[in-house]
This record gives sequence, C-alpha cells and structure tokens, in this order.
Amino acid sequence: MADERGRGFTTRAIHGAKAPPVDQETPSVPIYQTSTYRFADSDDYAETIGFRKPGYTYTRGYGNPTLQAFESVMADLEGTEAAFSFASGMAAIHTVFTTLAAVGDRIVASNELYGGAYALCAKVMPRYGIAVDLVDPHDLDAVAAALPGAAFFYVETIANPNVTVADLEALGALCRAQGVTAVVDNTFASPYLCNPARFGFAHVLHSATKFIGGHNDLIGGVVCTTGSGAEALRDTVIDTGGTMAPLEAWLCMRGLVTLSLRMERHGRSASAIAACLDGHEKVDRVWYPALASHPQHDVADRILPRGSGGVLGVEVAGGVEGGKRFCDALDLVWVATSVGGAHSLASHAASTTHRQMDPAARRRAGIADGLVRVSVGLEDEDDLLDDVARALEKV
Ligand code: PLP
Repeated sequence: MADERGRGFTTRAIHGAKAPPVDQETPSVPIYQTSTYRFADSDDYAETIGFRKPGYTYTRGYGNPTLQAFESVMADLEGTEAAFSFASGMAAIHTVFTTLAAVGDRIVASNELYGGAYALCAKVMPRYGIAVDLVDPHDLDAVAAALPGAAFFYVETIANPNVTVADLEALGALCRAQGVTAVVDNTFASPYLCNPARFGFAHVLHSATKFIGGHNDLIGGVVCTTGSGAEALRDTVIDTGGTMAPLEAWLCMRGLVTLSLRMERHGRSASAIAACLDGHEKVDRVWYPALASHPQHDVADRILPRGSGGVLGVEVAGGVEGGKRFCDALDLVWVATSVGGAHSLASHAASTTHRQMDPAARRRAGIADGLVRVSVGLEDEDDLLDDVARALEKV
C-alpha cells in the first residue's frame, strides 16, 4: 500500500522514522548511530566537508555528535584544546606516530612501553623508514642527549608493566628546551590522576579500553591535543580511518561519570595489596609507586598527587615458572589481558603482554622473568587480599 505521496512500503520503512525534537536535558547524550548526514544541497555539502561551515559529513574522522561529546569532555578533563577518539588505543598511538613522523625522521621513545607500542616502534615504524631510539626515561641526561633533531618524544606516565613513573615535569621541560613535541600515554594514570598537558605535553593519549571505559566491555582510544597539531591529526584520522564507533563513545562517557570514584577505590585496594605483598617470602619485589621502596616514589608524589592508580607489578620468586604458578593459583583475580576494569585481572608479562620483546629487550626495560601485572579491580578489598595471599601459598 502506498502513502499519500504514493511511496511504497519499503520506501516508508527506510524514510519514515523521525526523531521527535527534544528540548530538555537528559543525563546521557544520544547515540548518533549514523555514518552519514543529509545536506540541503551540494554547495552545503562542499562547504561542510571542507570544514568551512559547521556540520557533520561522515562519522569516519569528519565528526559525529556522540564522538564530539566524548571528545569535548576528554579535552576538558585533560586540560587540552581538542580531543580525537579512536577505535583502539593502538589506533590512537599509530595515528599520532604517523602524523608527527615521516620517512627519514627519528622518534625518541621510552624503553618502558606497552608491548603493542614497543612493537610499533621496533617493527612497524622502521618498515616506513622511521627510526626509533629507545631511551631510559628516568635517565634525563640520556633523554637530553637523544632529543636534538627528534620528530617527537614518546613516554608512558606510568609504564606498562612494571609501573615505573616518568618525571613528566622534567621530561616536558627537556622537550620544550629542544623544541621537540612531547607525547605521552596517560592510560594507567587516567585524567583523574595526572594531566600531562600542564607539563607541556602536546598530545596526551589513552587506551580508553582501560580506566576510561572502566568495565572491560569496549575497545577505544583518545588523543587530547593542544596547539597547532590538531588539524594534522584530524586529517590523518580521515585518511587512515581508525575512528571510534558512536556506541563506544557513549560507553566511554558512561565510564567517565564514575572515573574519580573508581580511581579512588582502585588506588585504595591496590595500596593494600601492595603492602601485603611487599616483603612476602614468595615475592622478590613489588612495583607500586605509593610504596616507599618504589624507585620513583618521590616523582610519583609530584606527578600523581591523587594516588598511584590500580595497577601493580609483583616479581614472584621462581622466575617464569613462579610468575605463571602465581597467576594460575588466583581465583577471584582472572588470568586475562587488559587493565582498568571492575574485574581484577592478572597477566604474566614475559609470556603474554610483553612476548613481542626478546629477553634482552625485556631485561633492558627492567621486566623480570617472574613479573606479574595485577590490575586491581573494584571487588571487596578483603576478598582480593585473601585471593592473593592464597595464590602465593601455592607458588
Ligand atoms: N597503552 C597502554 C599503556 C596499554 O596498556 C594498552 C593496551 O594494553 C594500549 C596502549 C593499547 O590499547 P588498546 O588495547 O585499546 O589498543
């Protein structure tokens, strides 16, 4: 049957749904689950796609209202001018790298990196004629010596997996003195614990998969940006396509609502577990910035004034086998990849997250054979302490 305009059933099914206008605020923003947007005419389209007129063209890099809402709250929380959302943390890192470096360039990066970022530096960038110098980020003389002529400097606020803390204040000053763009992965700190833009970092990125999402139910990334690089970054997103999906942006905003509460709780429980593990006969060493024994304990006081976050490293006695036995004896804490969610997760670094590094590179990065990364979730603290203590008995 046709309607009064003579249109058939299928046409009406395609064009008939119209959202009612809403002029009241709602606690969550709508999910604009759309790839495209209609224009009044071709000139309107041309002006909008050329960014000469505000509006939406295409969700891949050109903008989407739900992504924009997430990006604006992220820019605000990180204290940057703009933000761009990505399909994953690695898409965010890759987009920054390929925006800031070209063939013949040299990147200076920390030698303590998430395994995926390390692989990008060690395997992918060299394939495109981009050299990467890996330096100890805690050796400021080594960083200063490497910086001249670098395309950019790259470091993690709290490094994965052994939870060292970079002195972003000093590193930002070194980069400023050399005119080198400073880029930081702030994933483990989250914008609640640290805002690296205030130390001069032009690009502050996150795997939103972790604390921002907070529930182990999404994959996403975000880059918060200050200065003239924003347009170039946007152009790379458009040209390479690693955009976040609208539902993921909505989930990230939902995560942000409780970020401060979760970070406080993650930090309290992680501190309690770190204290319980520290000095245990089955433990060679505990890495948690709030512990006085942590090598950057003083740096952490300055860089992470609200606490050390939810991730700790524990070097279990007995090397690779000891680390794996500890993981396998955990029950409440799952053996699983990722960090930053409500569920506590553990991974043995050398055999899983950092398997891409050869043993010599792992040693240089200070990753011991028995190192286990524990992402302390939101479960009751006593239950977590019981689980960890019981697992150590079985090592
Ligand atoms: N940065 C850090 C510190 C990470 O731990 C990870 C993943 O574990 C990433 C980046 C990559 O993020 P994604 O898994 O969302 O691509």
